[in-house]
Amino acid sequence: MSIKVETLSGESATLDDDRLEELRMTFRGPLITQQDDDYDAVRVVQNGLIDRRPALVIRCSGTADVIDAVNLAREYGLLAAVRGGGHSVAGHSVRDRCLLIDLSGMRGVWVDPDARLVRVQGGATWGDVDREAQAFGLAVPGGIVSTTGVAGLTLGGGIGWLHRKYGLACDNLRAAEVVTADGRLLRASRSENEDLFWALRGGGGNFGVVTSFEFTAHPVGPTVMCAVPMYAEDSGEVFRAWSDWTQTVPDEVTTRAVFWTIPSDPHMPPQVHGRQVLITAALYAGPPDEGEKILQPIRRLGAPLVDLSAPMPYRMFQGAFDFFFTKGELASYWKSLFMSGPPGRAADLIVRSGFARTTPQTMIHVPLLGGAVSRVSPDDTAYGDRSAVSMLSVDGNWFDGDPARHIAWVRQVIGQAEEFSTGRAYLNFDGDEPGQTPDLVRSAFGENLQRLAEIKRRYDPENLFRLNANIAPA
Ligand code: FAD
Repeated sequence: MSIKVETLSGESATLDDDRLEELRMTFRGPLITQQDDDYDAVRVVQNGLIDRRPALVIRCSGTADVIDAVNLAREYGLLAAVRGGGHSVAGHSVRDRCLLIDLSGMRGVWVDPDARLVRVQGGATWGDVDREAQAFGLAVPGGIVSTTGVAGLTLGGGIGWLHRKYGLACDNLRAAEVVTADGRLLRASRSENEDLFWALRGGGGNFGVVTSFEFTAHPVGPTVMCAVPMYAEDSGEVFRAWSDWTQTVPDEVTTRAVFWTIPSDPHMPPQVHGRQVLITAALYAGPPDEGEKILQPIRRLGAPLVDLSAPMPYRMFQGAFDFFFTKGELASYWKSLFMSGPPGRAADLIVRSGFARTTPQTMIHVPLLGGAVSRVSPDDTAYGDRSAVSMLSVDGNWFDGDPARHIAWVRQVIGQAEEFSTGRAYLNFDGDEPGQTPDLVRSAFGENLQRLAEIKRRYDPENLFRLNANIAPA
């Protein structure tokens, strides 16, 4: 049966039976359409709010499949989405009637322990990377949920539990292989296609499909000291004390305050089931006994309801939130802003909002930035804002109820926090399409936007890669 795929101009292109058959013989990975039994499983992405029906999914098995998929998109002028881990909160990685270039079949990871180099295919998750790298006592700074894709997170910057010691995920990128809009495979590094390499480090999926990343890895764990005290206190004292402490800590400490309602789940101690808590979480990227001493103060900011702090395997901490983020079920709308000062300056708003979330699944989290993140020069990478001391991320999550109410609340809290903002947003934590908020891309990239637009023109003049936080070609 022939299929109709949306084109860049909003019309439809038809791929008839013969063409589809020819494509099926060319690609090594499967082509999936609405006729296939696994279509509904394949089109699901992380955010349960996104329920979209692509016309054709090409599950690439390697670089050659990616090149042919990009060539197919260009030949017919097809609207193409690119999917790595499928965690885009804004739903960039799937669209109705699009061609979906799906890299989830490309999850290989190779570690060179002597060179401290980790090579990762474009569809791998952070869990894939941690599994292989930790076998050699190494880690690449990634995110805090192990099912998140390496590609989208790195291309957008990438904060997690190691960013203060070792920088953002994108700061650890040594090189990438990219299929550009003209179907060429380019290598980008400090000495090859330097402009592309600059743009990939923070500029998102605008410049091509990354088939592999090469990262610098660092010695971490396998056992690390983690702090996870959970406080019921909502007067702001604990939060303010945590904020003061953050201003004294070494780079080995990456910490965030998390306002959440603990799910009634066997992974969590029964005494906190259904309780609203403030968690002052931290990881110490150094010897665990040293970490135990340095993290001790945030375990005594009051009387915790429970304290799950312990030396634990790095991978265990990396996967600690996974069970909660059920793929395709939990609906999400997130917004964030970078804050110019310590979190305590916004304590009244943050604590009030933290204990007034519209759903138990909604989370407010406040990561401390600085450290290695702020030591990279702002024009060394495309990533938007390195001056921020901390970040406020309001992560609306729900299983049911009226999305409009939850979305409005998230926007309201972020709107009220504007006075604490550096004026910049973090695109990885944003649920809006750029069209919904025209200033989003401008506010994310600031003075780097013009250079990004010029590089976009060089590598993707027709804006083939537009389902992302889109940078228009200059
Ligand atoms: P996808 O949805 O697959 O893609 C997102 C964007 O990247 C799209 O525009 C897509 O076209 C592009 N893209 C994907 N793969 C490629 C590729 N191979 N080549 C070129 N472009 C590509 N962010 C953080 O910084 N730190 C966190 O700790 C963190 N935790 C998260 C936890 C959850 C549960 C979720 C839902 C998100 C989290 N994020 C975090 C945000 C996350 O980094 C972004 O949503 C990121 O875009 C996800 O990457 P992905 O590959 O999974 O996404």
